[in-house]
Parts: sequence; structure tokens; C-alpha cells
Amino acid sequence: MVRAERVRKSFGPVEVLKGIDLEVERGQVLCLLGPSGSGKSTFLRCINHLERVDGGRLTVDGELVGYRRDGHRLRELTVRETSAQRARIGMVFQRFNLFPHLTALENVVEAPLRVHRRRRPEVVAEAHELLARVGLADKADLHPAALSGGQQQRVAIARALAMHPELMLFDEPTSALDPELVGDVLDVMRDLARDGMTMVVVTHEIGFAREVADRVVFMDDGVVVEQGPPDEVLTRPQHERTRAFLSKVL
Ligand code: ATP
Ligand code: MG
Repeated sequence: MVRAERVRKSFGPVEVLKGIDLEVERGQVLCLLGPSGSGKSTFLRCINHLERVDGGRLTVDGELVGYRRDGHRLRELTVRETSAQRARIGMVFQRFNLFPHLTALENVVEAPLRVHRRRRPEVVAEAHELLARVGLADKADLHPAALSGGQQQRVAIARALAMHPELMLFDEPTSALDPELVGDVLDVMRDLARDGMTMVVVTHEIGFAREVADRVVFMDDGVVVEQGPPDEVLTRPQHERTRAFLSKVL
């Protein structure tokens, strides 16, 4: 579903991704761990083309991200092609970026109405189902300011799901939350994983990674230091850098 081969990305003279290799199969959950500044967010942003890859090859569902083959040459996707590619990928950020002037329900229906141009009654009915699925059936008419951080983050997940994504990207979805709100958000993510969603999750929640991830990737300084099943990487890390990181977050 996602395949990165020697993916490179620089900002000016600074190389932030120095050749990332990893793969996520359909229906799998990959957890991405690593210290601050190691390039985790940059890599996620490359997957939905919020950042342009400078080198290597990155594909989602077999399609090159951001480029299309034109005969023997590559050309960049147009804006319209990029939004079509992106519409298949849901993303949830650390800071819930809901529209503050819209209710929970209106936040969820906005993209399917505007991007997919679907019929409102059908989209609204589905939005109510999605809000129920994330445990917020009774909050549909509240604005973000009236919701807790954890509730807002669950609305953000429902909003991403409303686009029927094939892939969900999560960038530290719980790290801005008060500790007592983290569990509800992780429960929703766990359910999604059980339902077979393909997910890439940047997280420091080692318990979640251990329980839910099919693969864990530890990144440091723009490279993948080690990757494998959670019980290998988290229980028997081979590299000193991984051990040092885990001893800090556990
Ligand atoms: P954190 O755990 O703190 O979120 P991260 O692993 O997600 O860290 P990134 O946000 O990917 O790290 O950043 C990797 C490096 O790239 C950092 O040194 C950061 O300063 C740099 N960087 C990220 N975005 C930009 C940008 N738009 N312009 C310049 N440098 C950037
Ligand atoms: Mg980050």
C-alpha cells in the first residue's frame, strides 16, 4: 500500500530524510517512532504530498506520489491530480485542526460534500454513523470549543473517515492531549485497525505500538535505524540508539 525506497528530502542545505526504506501492506498498521527532529512528520507529509520528495521512490497503492509517468519521463501532477491522489488518504495531526466555526457534524460532512460532491442527506446520515463510531453520537451539534481535546481529535478522525480513505496517517494524535483523554482516542484507532484500515502512526505510545502495530520502524536523524515486528524492535532492540530512545519513553 505504501512503499518507500531510498526516499530523500532536504530543506535547503539540510537533508532531513536520508534514504528511507519501508513498506506498509494493505490492512497493516505501521508505527513510526523516533526522537524529535528525526524526520517522522516530514516522511508522513511526503506520503500525501504535502512535501515533495527529492529522491528515491515513494508509491501509494502502486502509484507514484506526486508524479506521473509520461512516456519515459516523469511529470509532476497537476493540482487537480494531486487532490485526487490525496483524497484517498486521511490524515490526523497532533493539533486537531477542525474548523472552529462549524459543528462536529458540519466538520465531518464538509469534505465529502465539497470534494466528492455527494448528496447532502446521504452524507449527513453517514456522518452521524461516523460520529457514533468514535463515541460522539450525542455531540454532533456542538462546536469544537465545546468539546474536550480528545473529543475534538475523535471528530478529526471521523472527518478523515468520511472521505472513505484507503490509508490513514496519524501524526502524534494523542501527544497534545491530557493523559486521561488519550485512552479514548487510542481505542478508536485500535478499532479502526481491527476493521482492517491501513495505518501509519507516528506515536510515542509504546503500549499502543506493541499491541496494535504489525511493524515498528525506529527512525533517527533521517534514517531508519531498525524495523520489524513490535516484539522484536520494542522488546529486543538491536541498536543502541533504539535502546536509548525506548528507555526514555517507556
Ligand atoms: P517531532 O518528534 O519533534 O515532531 P519529527 O521527527 O516529526 O520531530 P520533522 O518535523 O520531520 O521531525 O523535522 C525533521 C527536521 O526537518 C527538523 O530538523 C526540522 O527542523 C526540519 N524541518 C521540517 N520542516 C521544515 C521546513 N518546512 N523547513 C525547514 N526545515 C524543516
Ligand atoms: Mg513531528
